[in-house]
Amino acid sequence: MSISEEARRADALALLEQLFSSLGDAPIDCTRFEGSDAAFVGIQNTSWDELCSEGLLEKQSDSLYVLTPAGWSEALLRAGTLSAPGFQDRIGKLAGFLKDQIKGREKSEVVAFDEIVRSTGLPSGWVFNVIDSHLLSRMEGRRDAFWFESARGRLVEVPRDFGLIKVDLFADIRAENLRLQETVEEMEELYREYRCEICSAPLIGIHPWEHQYGYEEATEYACGRTIGGPHGDTPCPKDPKFPKFEAFVLTTQRQENGWMCYASSVSNVDLRYTWGKTEEEAKSAMHEVYLRRAKPWKG
Ligand SMILES: [Zn+2]
Repeated sequence: MSISEEARRADALALLEQLFSSLGDAPIDCTRFEGSDAAFVGIQNTSWDELCSEGLLEKQSDSLYVLTPAGWSEALLRAGTLSAPGFQDRIGKLAGFLKDQIKGREKSEVVAFDEIVRSTGLPSGWVFNVIDSHLLSRMEGRRDAFWFESARGRLVEVPRDFGLIKVDLFADIRAENLRLQETVEEMEELYREYRCEICSAPLIGIHPWEHQYGYEEATEYACGRTIGGPHGDTPCPKDPKFPKFEAFVLTTQRQENGWMCYASSVSNVDLRYTWGKTEEEAKSAMHEVYLRRAKPWKG
């Protein structure tokens, strides 16, 4: 009797789930599963082949198999582990440690795998599987760390832009579906700087810039607040430190066919310049620009 395609698929996925849960925190590369093991007695033989043909499992000998990096991360995503608090803690710890390695650095850093395990206190097999399967990049839009050259399991290269978020993910949060909302929540846990701490406007960009002593990152929020820019910080419009219009000195300049108005202040709030047919018009246009700029962000 032949089994339907659907039943075969369900059986293969059940096998994947079983392999993943019996693996626990062990590393995928040296944990072999025996096809004839009594634990797998209810599984169709074809399911092993099916997972192999999908690249989720690798056959090492007649009946010995190992999970591939893709198999491990696929099983993890299917198991819904991503949103489990314990998993979030682990990922947060690992990503935090890796991010610390490149803080203020101009180049990528190579870190010994053992050092990562020692410093984070995380199970070494689990860390191995996360790096091996590029899990951080699979979890939407993070620049990931990877094995340095051929030193699988020994050296990890953390790229300079590790952990940077693909900004377009945040462009239209309200219109996104539940899946993206979950991703955002995960990121919120990982990246505390993801929202403006004053008005909760989302992060819209991280801009690297260089100065004579090294490398910095400027963080920009949708409310207009920036932190760590080359000319210092720009306050959030809801911050009491945000300058009043009176704090700007307006300078007007007669042009051939109208007036130009510039606004300067000690703050970093840049209002550019405005234009008007008369001096008054140029100044009142500047006031409009200020009001728009000073308007709090609405979520
Ligand atoms: Zn803000």
